[in-house]
Formats: sequence, C-alpha cells, structure tokens
Amino acid sequence: MSATVITNIATLVTNDPSLRDSDPLGLVRDAAVVVEGDRVVWTGESSKAPPTDNRVDAGGRAVLPGFVDSHSHLVFAGDRTEEFNARMSGRPYSAGGIRTTVAATRAASDAELEGNLTRHLAEALRQGTTTFETKSGYGLTVEDEARALRIAAARTDEVTYLGAHIVAPEFADDPAGYVALVTGEMLNACAPHARWIDVFCEKGAFDGDQARAILTAGKAKGLHPRIHANQLSYGPGVQLAVELDAASADHCTHLTDADVDALASGATVATLLPGAEFSTRAAWPDARRLLDAGVTVALSTDCNPGSSFTSSVPFCIALAVRDMGMTPDEAVWAATAGGAAALRRTDVGRLVPGAYADLVMLDAPSHVHLAYRPGVPLVTSVWRRGVREV
Ligand SMILES: [Zn+2]
Repeated sequence: MSATVITNIATLVTNDPSLRDSDPLGLVRDAAVVVEGDRVVWTGESSKAPPTDNRVDAGGRAVLPGFVDSHSHLVFAGDRTEEFNARMSGRPYSAGGIRTTVAATRAASDAELEGNLTRHLAEALRQGTTTFETKSGYGLTVEDEARALRIAAARTDEVTYLGAHIVAPEFADDPAGYVALVTGEMLNACAPHARWIDVFCEKGAFDGDQARAILTAGKAKGLHPRIHANQLSYGPGVQLAVELDAASADHCTHLTDADVDALASGATVATLLPGAEFSTRAAWPDARRLLDAGVTVALSTDCNPGSSFTSSVPFCIALAVRDMGMTPDEAVWAATAGGAAALRRTDVGRLVPGAYADLVMLDAPSHVHLAYRPGVPLVTSVWRRGVREV
C-alpha cells in the first residue's frame, strides 16, 4: 500500500491532547500528515516526516479533521420556504410545520428521497463534513419510517430511528396508541436499519414518561438513545438523557442548574445546534455555561427543511463563536472531536495514527479563520477514508 504525505501545513489540528501541554486541539505548526490506505499513520512536524511515495504540498494552509455532523434530518421531500419567509417577515403562518414535510415525504418516490439525500450529503461534503448522522421522522407510519431508514443506511453508518418526532396525524386523538406503535410494530420494522433511537421530548411532542418508554423499548432492541431535549422550553429531556446514558442530548437551549449538573456528571454529550436558533430567531444556547461546568459540547447543523436548513458546519462554528460564548478553538473541537463523542466514535474527529484519514484543508493558515471569515467558502480540499473527494 502506498503512503502519501501532506506536508507544508501551517496549522494542523489533531485533537490529540497528549501532543502539547494538554491543549485539546493538539495543534502542530509547520506540520505534516501521512496517510496510508484509509487511515492516518503519522502526524508531526514537516521536517520529521518519514519518506513516502506520494507528496501533497499544502502550501501553508491549515488542515483539520473532517467535520462530524452528528444531527441532521435529511430523508425528506418538499420545501418550507413560505413558512420561513413568513416567520422572518413577522407574518403569522398557519400551515402544519413538520406535518407539511410528513405529507410531502409520504407522497415521494424512493428515487426522490434518495436523490434529495444524496444531494444534501454531497453539499455537506463540499463544506468539509466527512461523517454524517441522519434520522427518519417524516414518515410516521411503519412502512414510511422503515423506508426512510433503509435509504439512509445505504449512505451512512450513523442512522437514527425517530418515529417519535411528532405524534402522527392519524393518532392526533390517541397519542398513547401512537407510542404503542412506535415501541412495537414500527420499532420492529426499523431497528434492523438503525444504530440509534431518538425522541423529540417537548411540550406538544412527547413528555418525559413517553420519551422514557420509547427509548427504553429501543434499548431493548439494541438501539442506543439520543434525545431532542430542552429546545423550546425547560423539561425532563436532559436529565432523562443522562439517566438512560444517551450518547447525546441535542439542543440544550433551556437548562436549569440541575440539568447542567447532570450533564457534567454523566457521559452524555450536549449537542448544540445554532442553525435552529438562527433560523427561528430564538435565544441562543449558552455554550459558555456548559463548558465552564465541564460538560462535553458538540456542534452540529440539525439540517432539516423546517427549522435549520443549513448543511454548513463552518457556519455553525461562526455562530457558536459570535453568539454562544465559545472560543474558536472550542468550536472547532466541538464540530470534530465533539461530534465524534456524540456518536461514541474514536475513529473519526481526530487526526492520530489509526484514525480514519478524514481531512479538511482550508484556504487559510489557521482553523481560527472558520469563525474569523464567516460565510467564506474556505474549504478547498476534503479527503474521506484516505480518498480525495473535493
Ligand atoms: Zn433535530
């Protein structure tokens, strides 16, 4: 197998804290990375790089791990431009939100859903995302949820069953009946295609008892929990996530001190999704408060057609730095190693020997430019599993 060295890297983000004074980013200046097959085999200073067959000159640019986007909803059809436009124009809008997308998704062919997903994954890859999680949740019938997960599983390993996104319209008067379906026949049909189970724990969606029942049923089928928690209001989601050892509590916008303490004491990552607050003009989650309490924080896009239609992790990094109290270093860590932690992965989100060779090169000398130059397409090259894709 031939090896390739990427050399003349001005700033290399490894996320290896053992490299330099416990700095979480493990920065190396004037650095090189050696890739063999689909793995990183060496990182360090350019002058000490071992000989290789192939050489790529980074030209003084920055290299960092590919982004790990641990939260998206990309198996959908239709469009909610009018809803967004009304919200941003201060006009009331009475259409059905998630239900609008459910109707369009059910009506779509497999080919339409596959085409849409493939297009959005390519869009994310061009912006540096090399690991994607995506969810069902716009089918809400046994057949439509299983179909969404089958389509997702053909394109990513990180697939989440979200039959409990909202109560299906057919069960509007019988939410207990819908929970029975989600934990019974629908779960049986979906579990073979998914790694994770998720629930939208919120007023108007599923309460704490329902969420516990849904996630517990999923665990019994071998799925691991993650939760949409405390997005729109205070609630039981975050503490339930920690109690059930969920990999991640996602959103975390409205937190009590007890919620923060629970996150700090458990293994559950707090995944912040600033695209949602941006797209709904809502109050930002307080990343600084979580970080100061010792909570592990991830940043993700929540890419979905209703409340956060961005696939851009760099945009989310810029928002997190500008509006959520994160330093540029913290935001870059959260979008790489943090996302990996939220998916309980150690083989992505870091550039260390043995990890997948998922790398992003920026047309800038430092990762700080991701926040310093918001909205600028800085990602010039992307390698995934050792193959240059962009
Ligand atoms: Zn979501």
